[in-house]
Amino acid sequence: MLGEPPPTPADLHFRLFGFPIRVHPFFWVVILILGMGGLGGGQADPVETLIWVVVAFISILVHELGHAVLQRRYGGHPWITLYGMGGLSSCDDCDRSPVSQILISAAGPIAGFLLAGGILLLIYSRLLEPIASPAVNLAIVYLLWINIGWGLLNLLPIYPLDGGRIARELFTLKGNVRQGVVQSLWLSVVLAGVCGVFGLLWLQSLYMLLIFGYLAYVNYQTIQAYQNYRSDYR
Ligand SMILES: [Zn+2]
Repeated sequence: MLGEPPPTPADLHFRLFGFPIRVHPFFWVVILILGMGGLGGGQADPVETLIWVVVAFISILVHELGHAVLQRRYGGHPWITLYGMGGLSSCDDCDRSPVSQILISAAGPIAGFLLAGGILLLIYSRLLEPIASPAVNLAIVYLLWINIGWGLLNLLPIYPLDGGRIARELFTLKGNVRQGVVQSLWLSVVLAGVCGVFGLLWLQSLYMLLIFGYLAYVNYQTIQAYQNYRSDYR
């Protein structure tokens, strides 16, 4: 479910900076649901929702482009998929060494932080004042929220979030690779469980409970698979 979805006739295809990009129809569905229920306090104003969809699309694309640029830097030919679970920048031919994998994973959130930083710079240098309007202001709020908020969330050491990928590489740097992977998976299970409960109790967010509960479950399943694999081959 976290992997690339199969192609559909409703897929949108284009290229940006030479990277092939595919947008699966569920991407729009999930973004719309998040925009109508997640932020706007329940009121779905069509213009506000449209601004949200455009800003979310650009922000997630910039995040994936951050990964893709580094993947290309490490010899790969990446392609980007935007789908119901967010975005993916995949490559089957880039360098797998821990250092390059850590930098590739960090580059997504960093691209978002740079975009947010650029917007803040424009605000503080008053360059955006000539185009200030309620719509532009709302777009800026959404843009800062997604690129800073989601960027930080993405750095949590929970697999397959970017922070979880970085943690996995760090855990396997010294010694036993399988032991390191299992340790990073346990960290994912515990932290995802804590975040899910925190989201429900503190933020009254059923959505956070579902997402983090699902991540805890997937990571726990992966640990089981690792242990079965070990007993099978001993
Ligand atoms: Zn990412």
